[in-house]
Amino acid sequence: MSAFISEKWPFDDTEKKHISITRAASLKSEISDYQENKKSINTGFDLQAAVSQNKERLLTLLKATEDDWQNWKWQLAHRIKDTETLAALLGLNEQQCAEINKVGVRYRWSISPYFASLIIPNEPNDPVMRQAVPTIDELDESGYDDPMAEEYTSPAPCITRRYPDRLIINVTNLCAMYCRHCQRRRNIGDVDRHQSHQNLVSALDYIRHNPEIRDVLITGGDALLLSDETIDWLLTELDNIKHVEIKRLGTRAMVTLPQRITPNLCAILKKHPPVFINTQFNHPHTITPESKLACDMLVDAGVILGNQAVLLKGINNNPDVMKKLNQELLKIRVRPYYIFHAKSVKGTRHFITSVDEGLEIMKKLRGYTSGLAVPTYVINAPKGYGKIPIMPEYILHNDGDTLLVRNWEGRELSIPIYPYKPQGEKN
Ligand SMILES: *Cc1c(COP(=O)(O)O)cnc(C)c1O
Repeated sequence: MSAFISEKWPFDDTEKKHISITRAASLKSEISDYQENKKSINTGFDLQAAVSQNKERLLTLLKATEDDWQNWKWQLAHRIKDTETLAALLGLNEQQCAEINKVGVRYRWSISPYFASLIIPNEPNDPVMRQAVPTIDELDESGYDDPMAEEYTSPAPCITRRYPDRLIINVTNLCAMYCRHCQRRRNIGDVDRHQSHQNLVSALDYIRHNPEIRDVLITGGDALLLSDETIDWLLTELDNIKHVEIKRLGTRAMVTLPQRITPNLCAILKKHPPVFINTQFNHPHTITPESKLACDMLVDAGVILGNQAVLLKGINNNPDVMKKLNQELLKIRVRPYYIFHAKSVKGTRHFITSVDEGLEIMKKLRGYTSGLAVPTYVINAPKGYGKIPIMPEYILHNDGDTLLVRNWEGRELSIPIYPYKPQGEKN
């Protein structure tokens, strides 16, 4: 390596070759740990044997057929909400059931049969179970109901506006599975409720009257749990507002209910480009043949897919798991977009990691893997002041003419900049 900083320059061809080979060997050794570790991080593809057994068990328990399973409305109508079914699937004991029931009184839970089939039984820290099945930790009363103050940034019904040129329309509180780490818990309530047609009309009016809004995010709950007709109507209305340049949908359907991605839905989305869909894959176990098919269908409909993972203690707060997740996402054509630092929402505090853990994950992504597999790590500012990117320190010093930096491997380097100044201008 010392050849790089040697005084001698240039080198002859033999020396260049030798330096390249030495450098390549050192790069290879930088990734050897991960090459080994990633073998023990399964995707949903690797777990098909266990998952099919779960599915067979659920079909029997729910007296259902393969056709039912493939039908998203059946999946939604048969979400698991009782500990009897869950215990029969996962072999929970009485105390575990009692705890789930106790938490369930406070925060409802509900799991699509598909998502439940991804839980590996007898794994106390199963990452799918941790996202879906309540634990007694949720009864810790610390934290806030609305740390982002969404209720103070809503200038019109079902709208959240925190930025100059874009906003959110919140269309429903319905989800195929109520995440245990949900940051909008207070909206989930006890019953499923779409926004009224009148509220959606008012939200559209607000957008129509504010010509700087060029990007509209339809979210919830889960935006794809609206009917095909409502989605088509909303996208048509937005297309008719000249200043709306792009539409985005926020959904976990590809993760929790991939059956929702039907040919009819795709035909609708295809009519309204440009449409971006951001989803939330948090762990490689949820990347399955079904979720891949759903993403393939959406990509074929011209939709651009992104992922907004949440950094969750005990689920994905591990650099190798996050790296594998992001690499596997690229394989199913989902571009990692954000990693969110979990907010201090009441009942979800047990998922919160330190910021240092998040920074460590980011350090081990940048440079070590494709830039395409590196999302932005963000934290939501209090009071609805927006998302803040948090980054490892790459700039050590900047005096205008020279930039002192640290590269992905931790090497400190000085980069001459000397910005061009037209003649006659003083330095
Ligand atoms: C996250 C968010 C957006 C979108 O932010 P981007 O950084 O553009 O993805 C827009 N509005 C609100 C209220 C948000 O929370």
